Amino acid sequence: MIIEGHFVTHEREFEGQVEVLDGIIARVGIDTELGTPDFKYPRTHRVFPGMSDIHIHAREDATGKQCHKETYTTANAAALNGGVVAAGAMPNQPEPVTTLDRLAWHAQAHADLPVSFMNYVGIGPNTEPLEGDLAHKLYTGPSVGDLFFTSEQGVRDALTRYVGRNVSFHVEDFDVLMENEGQPTHQLRRPVHAVNTALAYVLPMIEEFELDAKLCHWSTGGESFEMIQAHRARQQAAGKSRTTLEVSPLHLIFDADMLKIAPQGWPYVQMNPALQGTEHRVALVEGLRDGTIDYLATDHAPHTLEEKFKKFADLVEGGETREQAYLRLLDSNPAKCNARACLNGTSGTPQLDTYGLVAAWLITDQGFTPERVAEVTSYNPGKFMSRFSDAKLGDIAVGYDGSFTVLDMGASTVVSRENLKTKVGWSPFEGMTFPGKVAQTFVKGVPYK
Ligand SMILES: [Zn+2]
Repeated sequence: MIIEGHFVTHEREFEGQVEVLDGIIARVGIDTELGTPDFKYPRTHRVFPGMSDIHIHAREDATGKQCHKETYTTANAAALNGGVVAAGAMPNQPEPVTTLDRLAWHAQAHADLPVSFMNYVGIGPNTEPLEGDLAHKLYTGPSVGDLFFTSEQGVRDALTRYVGRNVSFHVEDFDVLMENEGQPTHQLRRPVHAVNTALAYVLPMIEEFELDAKLCHWSTGGESFEMIQAHRARQQAAGKSRTTLEVSPLHLIFDADMLKIAPQGWPYVQMNPALQGTEHRVALVEGLRDGTIDYLATDHAPHTLEEKFKKFADLVEGGETREQAYLRLLDSNPAKCNARACLNGTSGTPQLDTYGLVAAWLITDQGFTPERVAEVTSYNPGKFMSRFSDAKLGDIAVGYDGSFTVLDMGASTVVSRENLKTKVGWSPFEGMTFPGKVAQTFVKGVPYK
């Protein structure tokens, strides 16, 4: 199979052809012809190495309790729709992934799907390390599910068992979250200092226990960036691996100052950690551009609209959905609706379907170089996925998987419920026009979109 077009990697852009044999890239022809192309893309299109989203929630487990939200099959469809060929699934299902048996159950559940899923293994107060090189997840405070810690000492006690391991952290301090539970908005219930308080003890522990660490869905700039930079300098001086950072599109596109003007939007964008002020959003965009942040990772968290609008349950009339009750109240009594919308609903937003659109937005609207976008959507996350799964992703070179994300940079896409594949069928970006379109997603030489 030969693809012809304009290719982008983290290092270069080139016109040419790429040949895939048995799912693997066999030849790369820069400015040369290898043969008659099976797929030929016009100059408006950009062919990236298949993109990887290393932080999603697929929700399926042996209990089946959350299969109304998403299953591996529907997450697979949403991923391919968004140009994503590999995804790292977090372990906080009703039955958390903490044992080899459960890990094997999940491996079998997604074995036949084209998207490569990798399962993180949870670290909790009572977990023991498992055999093998695995990606772990640790929640320093409560988010969604029961897999979390309630104190710095608890985190420390657990990490003494995981010296040298790969660990991804959800960084928010339990005590600060509890102290602020009664605050009027999600921004204040999960304030900046919840992140900074936990970060202040997580970073020294990463150094002490020589962890190969990643900090998830980073939500703040300022002080947190300064702490992380000082930490990385110490790691470099000690010859230790560098702690990496994820950022979610939601934190790049929305901020809490926007919600001050339009508080009715909170149910659609409530996520942990919370959106913070504009200065943080801008710092995150710049951090992704300048290399402070390493990965675009969505934290795709499919909750139904009924779950997102649970604070409107008592207003439902007749056969209305909760969202319809919300819209009716927004129309009849906006002030009351806004007050309700700021209450604590369900945290998390579905974002797999829109991954490739955000990549196009970074290039066209935010002025990122295509190579930098390839680095944060394909190369860096591809390296992570390749370490913990059978895939070999992230570059367009001989021996890599013949997986590609083709973006049409000449088109635009209005996000609407009809063009989503996630089982929950909604997006925080509905109504927004993105500059670009996911034209095709190839996994090992096979086009799926
Ligand atoms: Zn998450």
